[in-house]
Amino acid sequence: MKKRILVTGGAGFIGSHLCKRLLNEGNEVICLDNFFTGSRQNIHDLLDNKDFEVIRHDVTIPIHLEVDQIYNLACPASPVHYQFDPVQTTKTSVLGAINMLGLAKRTKARILQASTSEVYGDPDVHPQPESYWGKVNPIGIRSCYDEGKRCAETLFFDYHREHGVDIRVIRIFNTYGPNMNPNDGRVVSNFIVQALKGEDITIYGEGSQTRSFQYIDDLVEGMVRMMNNETGFVGPVNIGNPDEFTIKELAEKVIEAIPNSKSKLVYKDLPQDDPKQRKPEISTAKEQLKWSPSIKLDAGLKDTIKYFSSII
Ligand code: NAD
Ligand code: UDP
Repeated sequence: MKKRILVTGGAGFIGSHLCKRLLNEGNEVICLDNFFTGSRQNIHDLLDNKDFEVIRHDVTIPIHLEVDQIYNLACPASPVHYQFDPVQTTKTSVLGAINMLGLAKRTKARILQASTSEVYGDPDVHPQPESYWGKVNPIGIRSCYDEGKRCAETLFFDYHREHGVDIRVIRIFNTYGPNMNPNDGRVVSNFIVQALKGEDITIYGEGSQTRSFQYIDDLVEGMVRMMNNETGFVGPVNIGNPDEFTIKELAEKVIEAIPNSKSKLVYKDLPQDDPKQRKPEISTAKEQLKWSPSIKLDAGLKDTIKYFSSII
C-alpha cells in the first residue's frame, strides 16, 4: 500500500539513496533537509517525480505534517562537519529526536532512528553486540555526536515506553558509496578523491585503527527491512558489514583500484578519541530481519570510484 513517508536528512548521502528506493516502491516521499551537508544535486533525479516533495527545514524546529512513516536521518555524520558547530550537532540529535517523536506521536506514524556505531565509542568489547553499553567520552570533541545520538536513543525508547510510539532503532556502521560529498571528510571519500586527484593520501595516526565498511545498498535494504518489520522487534539492531580492515589496508586498496594514481601515503596526527577498532556483531540482524550484507569492499569501492570519477 502506498505510504506517505518523511525522510529527514533526505538530501544527504544515505537519505538520497533511501528516498530513491522508497519512491521506486511506489510511495510518496517528503524529503526534509536544511542542506547543511546535503545537496540538491543528490536528489536532482528525483525532483521531477510527482510523488516527491522537498521541504527546506531544520529538525530542531517543530513541524506539522501528516505522514505514515518517518526515517530520522538528519544529522551531519562526518567528524569534520559535526565538529564544525558541536552545539548545533547536539541540538540536531536531541531536539530533532524530540520534534520527530512528537510528530510520530501525533500522527501515529512509525519512526526509525538512524543511530550509529558511535554509541559504542572507543569500544573495549570486540566485535560490538547491541548488548554492549559502550565506552564514550562525555566531554571530548566527538561527544556532541556520540552523546547526542545516545540521548536520541534514550528518547526513542522513552517515547515508546511512555507514549506507545511505534519506534525502530538501527545502529549504522561506517557506510560509503555514491552521493558522498567529495568534501565530506570521511575516510573512504577522502582517500578516493585524493587518489583521483593525485594528492597525498592522508592516513591519521599509523593507520592501524580498524573500521568495517558497508556499501550503501546493503544499508538501505537493512533500513527498509527494519522499518517494515512486524514482529514487534524495535531494536536496537546493528546494520553493518563485519569485514574489518585497517585504515592502511583501505588506503592500499584504493591505490590498487586506481593504478595510474600518483598519490603517496602520508601520515598525519590521529584525532582525539578516534576509536581504535570497530566491527559489528550482526547476529541480531540475521535472526530478526533475515538480513546480512552482500557487497564486498572491492566491489563497493569500484562503484564508488566510478561515481567520484564522474563528478571530479
Ligand atoms: P550526511 O551528512 O550526508 O547527511 C545528513 C543530512 O542531514 C544532510 O542532508 C544534512 O543537510 C541534513 N541535516 C543536518 N542537520 C540537519 C538539521 N538540523 N535539520 C535538517 N537536516 C539536517 O550523512 P549521512 O552519511 O547520509 O548520514 C545520515 C544519517 O545516518 C545521520 O543521522 C548519521 O548520523 C547516520 N549514520 C551514518 C553513518 C555513515 O557511515 N554514513 C554511520 C552511522 C550513522
Ligand atoms: N581517517 C584517515 N584519513 C582521513 C580521514 C579519516 O586516516 O583522511 C581515519 C580516521 O582517523 C578514523 C577512520 O579513518 O580512524 C574513519 O574515519 P571517518 O571519519 O571516516 O569515520 P569514523 O568512523 O571515525 O567516524
